[in-house]
Amino acid sequence: MPYTANGNRYNEMVYNRCGNSGIKLPAISLGLWHNYGGQDVFENGRSIARTAFDAGITHFDLANNYGPPYGSAEESFGQILQKDLAPYRDELIISTKAGYDMWPGPYGNWGSKKYLVASLDQSLRRMGLDYVDIYYHHRPDPDTPLEETMSALDLIVRQGKALYVGISNYREAEAREAAAILKRLGTPCLIHQASYSILDRWIEGGLHNAMNEEGVGIIGFVPLAQGVLTNKYLNGIPADSRAAGHSRFLNKDSIPDWKLAIVRQLNELAAQRGQSLAQMALAWVLRDGGVTSALIGASKVSQIEENVRALDNLTFSAEELELIDRISKG
Ligand code: NDP
Repeated sequence: MPYTANGNRYNEMVYNRCGNSGIKLPAISLGLWHNYGGQDVFENGRSIARTAFDAGITHFDLANNYGPPYGSAEESFGQILQKDLAPYRDELIISTKAGYDMWPGPYGNWGSKKYLVASLDQSLRRMGLDYVDIYYHHRPDPDTPLEETMSALDLIVRQGKALYVGISNYREAEAREAAAILKRLGTPCLIHQASYSILDRWIEGGLHNAMNEEGVGIIGFVPLAQGVLTNKYLNGIPADSRAAGHSRFLNKDSIPDWKLAIVRQLNELAAQRGQSLAQMALAWVLRDGGVTSALIGASKVSQIEENVRALDNLTFSAEELELIDRISKG
């Protein structure tokens, strides 16, 4: 049966304007860092992507090296486009990135023009696309002049291979400088992709204010702390969880008892609000409109269904916010 998207998909999602641009992003976006690699079950990832689109999630976030192996998430997404989503291409915001290790030798990493241009050409081939909507420099490169990296992004837009550009993991001063260079080149920086959650607040104050001042949107990644900010680890590590798998980025050592004690208290507060902890954690990221989108991952269709319901209650009382601050300090 060919896929037909849910006719009501735009009724319940919230769309936020991204910085000073013309583009709006869904308040919840889906990232393909995990669950779309060569060793993952393709049909599961495909169902998750379809469920996401059916719920109004129009934004799918990739990177050249998502997998493993590197490139395989883009290949999987290319298949999903071919099988299901290609007829909806004009309703999708597809992003990819380069900046981390991708191929051997001096031209497959960091921030040179050589790397950024070649990597995007490879990403487009893997996904079967003519262009991406957003192309990011994935992390700052201390050794390449920022001017070169930003002019590579500008070039790529002028070549029609990306519509917008963004930066990721840049600290305040370098983010401001990048935004200023891009503005001068005539390709404004659309968005900054930075980690943000109840347990990870480094963007608050400096970077957050700077991006708002520059008219650059913010998309907060890992808003559920890779699943720690849900109820799933409260009674041990389930066999089908990320922490039980082979992830280099989350294992049982990343979830010590002191962190679980915080999560348990947050879980109680979420229950008082009539939300799951996952829903409260997402609502918190989106609470004051200062973050354009919360960029989640999902290993199951049911997680998408649960998480989009976060939008049913994005409001927090001053007391609740204070309590979350207090609890999260441990
Ligand atoms: P999250 O913090 O949203 O964690 C997602 C994981 O949490 C899921 O895969 C699932 O893991 C678990 N989960 C999600 N919903 C629920 C739920 N309702 N109940 C229980 N468990 C749940 O984000 P990710 O770590 O996946 O990262 C999201 C995206 O952010 C990436 O795909 C990528 O696009 C981007 N990113 C960008 C980076 C950058 O440097 N720019 C770095 C890292 C990520 P489980 O397998 O346990 O079920």
